[in-house]
Amino acid sequence: KAKAEGRNTARAFEPAMDAALAERRLLEGDLRHALARDELMLHYQPQVRSACGRLVGFEALVRWRHPTRGLVPPCAFIPLAEETGLIVPLGEWVLRAACREAAGWAHPLKIAVNLSPRQFQQADLPERVRTILAETGLPPDRLEIEITETVIINDMARALSVLRRLKALGLRIAMDDFGTGYSSLATLQAFPFDKIKIDRSFVSQLEQRPSAAVIVRAVLGLGRSLGIGVVAEGVETDGQMRFLAEEGCEEMQGYLFGKPQPVDQLAGLIARDAAWMRDAGENRMMAA
Ligand code: C2E
Ligand code: MG
Ligand code: MG
Ligand code: MG
Repeated sequence: KAKAEGRNTARAFEPAMDAALAERRLLEGDLRHALARDELMLHYQPQVRSACGRLVGFEALVRWRHPTRGLVPPCAFIPLAEETGLIVPLGEWVLRAACREAAGWAHPLKIAVNLSPRQFQQADLPERVRTILAETGLPPDRLEIEITETVIINDMARALSVLRRLKALGLRIAMDDFGTGYSSLATLQAFPFDKIKIDRSFVSQLEQRPSAAVIVRAVLGLGRSLGIGVVAEGVETDGQMRFLAEEGCEEMQGYLFGKPQPVDQLAGLIARDAAWMRDAGENRMMAA
């Protein structure tokens, strides 16, 4: 009887699986044309300095304006792009678009760009990045590349050499989603990270779970001991912000400070920050 039921269940699943596969193929086909059809766009999310709330820069986050599906979030196509290798041209488009955009800003804020494991496997990645920096005129020290632990554990020796070559260009490297993977103290020490981003899953639990607070405190301590800056991602409440500020977290990112937004909405934010800089400069000169 159980056997028959098992078969029935299997049969019941088949149409659903076929549908999922067909859906995937459709999406993949569309994704192949997304670049050429100019359907990708970037949203930018502010990153702020905890001490003064000032803007430090933005993280570029890709969106797909699908002709019939509307705005598709990255979780719905980045994994597919990664599997199919489409992430390589897609990622290069993201990097170029983000650098070009940032190069035109009224003052020198940072731009953070996510790089996927597959992009890291390209032997000529550092040359490609150098070319994009030269083309767009963005000073390398304004670019921060975010990678996850997956990039490293695949092939440590290779990852280390690529990271070193990237850093030699003068840019910064951040470890994204820290705490969700397998990174150890040894990894953090061996790799030339400039920054650790505490994963949102810990930040969002700060007020509910004592263990989340313990982990966040430990990561902040780790950053201090190793001389690596720490950013908290996914900060949504005043309570989370206060906890993080009191524990010495230097930078924050999250809906509390701003959601990822299209480029035409950044001008106001950047201008306000530029004005703040000017005023601060004048005050300094008057004081001198
Ligand atoms: P990530 O790099 O960790 O980016 C942060 C994600 O958290 C973004 O989701 C952002 O919108 C979201 N987020 C930020 N603050 C808050 C908050 O306060 N509350 C909540 N609930 N969410 C918040 P998004 O834009 O959907 O991106 C998801 C992931 O997709 C990114 O995670 C990144 O891994 C990947 N991704 C996005 N753009 C790119 C890209 O251009 N290239 C690559 N390789 N991956 C990308
Ligand atoms: Mg990121
Ligand atoms: Mg992240
Ligand atoms: Mg994340």
